[in-house]
Amino acid sequence: MICPYCGEEMEQGVIQSPHEISWKYKKSLFGRAGFHKGSIVLSKLSMLKGSATIAHCCRKCQKIIIDYKDGNCDINQVK
Ligand SMILES: [Zn+2]
Repeated sequence: MICPYCGEEMEQGVIQSPHEISWKYKKSLFGRAGFHKGSIVLSKLSMLKGSATIAHCCRKCQKIIIDYKDGNCDINQVK
């Protein structure tokens, strides 16, 4: 992935967690996305494999980008 800020190639890596990884409007006590309207699941909870989402990093711009199109960022969903 090319960094949209500086135009240089980004490094691919992962962001992982023992819990579901999701985007929500704000932090909450019950964090699961299913409880929050408008939330986006980036990686479903997997007890066996853990949850991880593919993320691209530009160290120069200090930006991390997650492309969640079609759920392809979920490392457990990648075909
Ligand atoms: Zn950059």
